[in-house]
Amino acid sequence: VDESDYLAIGAGLGSFFWADLLRISGVRAEKIVGLGLEAEPYARYKRLCLNSQIPLHERLRSNSDSCPDNIWGWPSYALREAWHDFTKGQMKSAFKYLWQVFAEPTFAETYTPRAGNVFDSIDRETKRIGWNQIYRYGRVRVIRKTDDGRYCVAYSRGPGNYAFLVSRYLHLATGYPAIQFLPDLQAYREKYQDFKSVVNAYEAHDHVYEQLEQHGGTVLIRGRGIVASRIVQRIYEARKRNQNIAVLHLMRSPKPQGNKFQNTQRLVKNHYEFQPFNWPKACWGGELRAMLEKATPDERKRLLADWGGTTTADRQDWQQITAQGLSEGWYQITFGEVLDVERDAQNRTITRIREQSFGEMKLLADFIVDATGLDAKVDANPLLADLVKHYNLPVNHLGRLTVANNFELVEMRSDRGQMYAAGAITLGGPYAAVDSFLGLQYAALVAVDGLSAARAPGVQKLNTISSFRQWLKWVLNQSP
Ligand SMILES: Cc1cc2nc3c(=O)[nH]c(=O)nc-3n(C[C@H](O)[C@H](O)[C@H](O)COP(=O)(O)OP(=O)(O)OC[C@H]3O[C@@H](n4cnc5c(N)ncnc54)[C@H](O)[C@@H]3O)c2cc1C
Repeated sequence: VDESDYLAIGAGLGSFFWADLLRISGVRAEKIVGLGLEAEPYARYKRLCLNSQIPLHERLRSNSDSCPDNIWGWPSYALREAWHDFTKGQMKSAFKYLWQVFAEPTFAETYTPRAGNVFDSIDRETKRIGWNQIYRYGRVRVIRKTDDGRYCVAYSRGPGNYAFLVSRYLHLATGYPAIQFLPDLQAYREKYQDFKSVVNAYEAHDHVYEQLEQHGGTVLIRGRGIVASRIVQRIYEARKRNQNIAVLHLMRSPKPQGNKFQNTQRLVKNHYEFQPFNWPKACWGGELRAMLEKATPDERKRLLADWGGTTTADRQDWQQITAQGLSEGWYQITFGEVLDVERDAQNRTITRIREQSFGEMKLLADFIVDATGLDAKVDANPLLADLVKHYNLPVNHLGRLTVANNFELVEMRSDRGQMYAAGAITLGGPYAAVDSFLGLQYAALVAVDGLSAARAPGVQKLNTISSFRQWLKWVLNQSP
């Protein structure tokens, strides 16, 4: 049995942001433990990016000043990339990035950083704060309150190798526990035990593109969010090697117009709905954040439905690919409700749909890519399910953990300790953009404020001077 003052469960990006802020607020690395399954805090995130066809040179979907390595957000990624290109003599691209952040989103496409640059910058910050001292390998099985007002965490280090950690302050950020399959595709996979033809966009599925590039074929895509856009882009690239590739994009219904909220309305083209990020920008720190925080649970449900939903980024290259595919005929959009998915004698998938005007139809495809999402409901994660059941914790309308405005799990408070949560497992509560770099940093900020108010050991609330001093240390790459 070990003890620590601060314990972050998950050791992914949400845990890293909390530990980063604790370090910047004065807590020593040896007082913090990050328990998880992979040493790099972005390991799972990077895997999901690569699987869903975001290679390192591709751009993510977050703002220039949404910096996982830097809580101040300055210098932003656009500034860093512009400076990098400027020093290489690439003036045109350097000025383009600066113009983008000046004129976005009305007069220029919103700037987003390259995945590789983001991972490199996190590497620098992990070294700076001593993350290798904080991280510990372990799969957390159970969390319980102790008699002396702390928390005990049981975790496994391998088969038959269990250990315990007792801590006063817990932070829970376990991310998405599961890949979500549409029920008819799940039924197909179970019936035919075929995990190669029907895949989820978030699982490793490069074999699909390799086979298409070699032999050609047809891909059926389900879902019309940003992941679907990335899959279409990947197939567009595969078509440069083999023109014999076609895409059937199956959507449940047409999308004639975008969501409206007050005086604003989202743009729609070819049944894709656009929004630079997955939430309106004011959800992160503007008036929509304050509005949601004040709202009742019922109002939150309505507001989240208005602001969220399935959208993709307003990228010119993607719109061009869609328009080109439609005019050349290799990309087709079909609307219909899926009745079932079967397999024919040539091992091709047959999707039977009810189409609005033609009635029942069969769509033949070599592959089906489910681009509809990931699951973060409490009951999909045994650790969270046990916690909710044992302590009778409330869950919100989306089946996630109910948190206070500062992300505390209030029902878990004990005499000497506090417990916080962050990330997708808290969606549906006081903050919309919980599953984003800046949202996770915001959650860490308000949680650490809560710790400082509770006079947690070693936590000094940042003020203008101490924050500036810490920023200088960041610039000089010195330990906090
Ligand atoms: C494909 C994709 C692209 C995204 N792009 C962006 C973007 O461009 N910009 C942006 O701001 N946000 C983006 N996000 C959202 C967000 O930034 C990420 O989802 C982020 O990784 C969330 O951090 P997290 O800590 O909640 O989860 P993760 O980073 O997934 O970390 C959770 C960790 O907990 C571990 N874990 C789970 N259960 C246990 C257990 N019982 N014991 C021990 N460890 C456990 C997991 O193994 C995992 O490593 C994207 C998300 C995805 C999926």
